[in-house]
Amino acid sequence: MDTQVLIIGAGPTGLTLALDLSRRGVPFRIVDASAAPFAGSRGKGLQPRSMEVFHDLGVIEPILASGRFHMKMRVYNGREVLREWDVHEGRHPTTDRPYASTMLIPQFRVEQILRDALPQPVEYGMPLTSFVQDDNGVTAVIGSEPVRAKYLVGCDGGKSFVRKHLGVQFVGETHEDKQMLVGDVRVSGLDREHWHSWGGGIDKWLALCPLPGTDLFQFQSTGEGEPSFELYRRIVRERTGLDDVVLHDATWMSLYRTNIRMVDRFRVGRVFLAGDAAHVHSPAGAQGMNTGIQDAYNLGWKLGMETLLDTYEAERKPVAEWLLGMTTRIMTSGKPFEQRDDETLQLSLSYRTSDGPGLQPGDRMPDGHTDQGRVFDLLRGPDFVTLDFPDGPVLVRPDGYVAAIGRSAIDAYFGANPVTQLHHRRVAARSAA
Ligand SMILES: Cc1cc2nc3c(=O)[nH]c(=O)nc-3n(C[C@H](O)[C@H](O)[C@H](O)COP(=O)(O)OP(=O)(O)OC[C@H]3O[C@@H](n4cnc5c(N)ncnc54)[C@H](O)[C@@H]3O)c2cc1C
Repeated sequence: MDTQVLIIGAGPTGLTLALDLSRRGVPFRIVDASAAPFAGSRGKGLQPRSMEVFHDLGVIEPILASGRFHMKMRVYNGREVLREWDVHEGRHPTTDRPYASTMLIPQFRVEQILRDALPQPVEYGMPLTSFVQDDNGVTAVIGSEPVRAKYLVGCDGGKSFVRKHLGVQFVGETHEDKQMLVGDVRVSGLDREHWHSWGGGIDKWLALCPLPGTDLFQFQSTGEGEPSFELYRRIVRERTGLDDVVLHDATWMSLYRTNIRMVDRFRVGRVFLAGDAAHVHSPAGAQGMNTGIQDAYNLGWKLGMETLLDTYEAERKPVAEWLLGMTTRIMTSGKPFEQRDDETLQLSLSYRTSDGPGLQPGDRMPDGHTDQGRVFDLLRGPDFVTLDFPDGPVLVRPDGYVAAIGRSAIDAYFGANPVTQLHHRRVAARSAA
């Protein structure tokens, strides 16, 4: 084998997987067809659950230093403020959820932070052009180089070559009527404290959102036509009606078409699909990048331990189904920027297999204070952790979800999945008030 895991695509999904595998000591290669990292912002909403993942992966400090919480939305008629509100009004950190609301941070910054944390570089300019698999591994052609790996993961985005080559269906629809002009622009005449928007009807909508840590605004507007600086400049002038709000420069421009599609399989033998390669949907609700991050986080420990690999599809496919429904609901509600709930923050996602009151197997393990420190700090690292509380032990998976509660259930879990016990620590902890 040349490597254990060959990761195709270095967007947020592939990079999260690479970082998780690296801390497990699992040999991997991460390749990308592009010559260099993607320069446009695309996703700019990072959800609390992704921040918890980044806490575990050890990159939360640079993330927090680069983003911004509670930026207020403003709707104008010219300069007149018609409405101002905080989508995350009243959401503040608590003991069990240290990250309480969506952070604004450009996707390229998230990717840069993940790349910087990797022990080896992303191999750019290296497209996957074919692959075959057999009982022992996958032989892929990267550029013109044959590479043999035990597993291959397609994190290669909505147009995924891996998905198409596998013949996996991408079931759903394209909404030709739901198009959006997007880009990263430099604008004068606007403060960087608000997410500014104009437009009485949806066909006249324009939003300019400051991208924290940069001098750019993300441009979003309804409209048609080939993206061009002249078109964007005209939209800004006409929809704001203001001479002193001027577009000077655009570093990225694109026409976004809404596709609502997902795969019918997340795994074919030794090949897996994750992130946009497995599901695409409306950007309303800021979910795509976040869901890819969590696909990777669900898959990383299973690939590292080479166990429970079938549960990847079993656990992530229902999440993708929920995601397509939820984002479509937000998109068609006519109120895409109203108050967010636990669903959109991705904190209430669970892999429960049975119902019951209180904390159950499959639930996200909440943070909390103990005499040994914060729960999230005790869980940090690539292993399963038993938290031996005085009122009984809780076994937590490497991705922070509860595996089993109580001694006999934990013994049964280890009995059914013996490999997991080899990657296991125990911490005796008392809850602190
Ligand atoms: C305008 C807009 C706003 C958005 N807002 C949000 C938001 O607020 N929050 C959110 O969570 N999401 C948002 N999204 C969605 C988010 O951008 C995507 O879901 C995210 O980029 C998916 O990440 P990924 O790693 O799965 O795929 P990608 O980021 O698409 O990365 C795939 C990578 O694979 C590479 N690749 C492709 N083919 C090959 C090949 N054959 N060989 C090697 N490499 C290959 C590509 O070069 C690329 O680098 C938004 C998207 C848009 C367009």
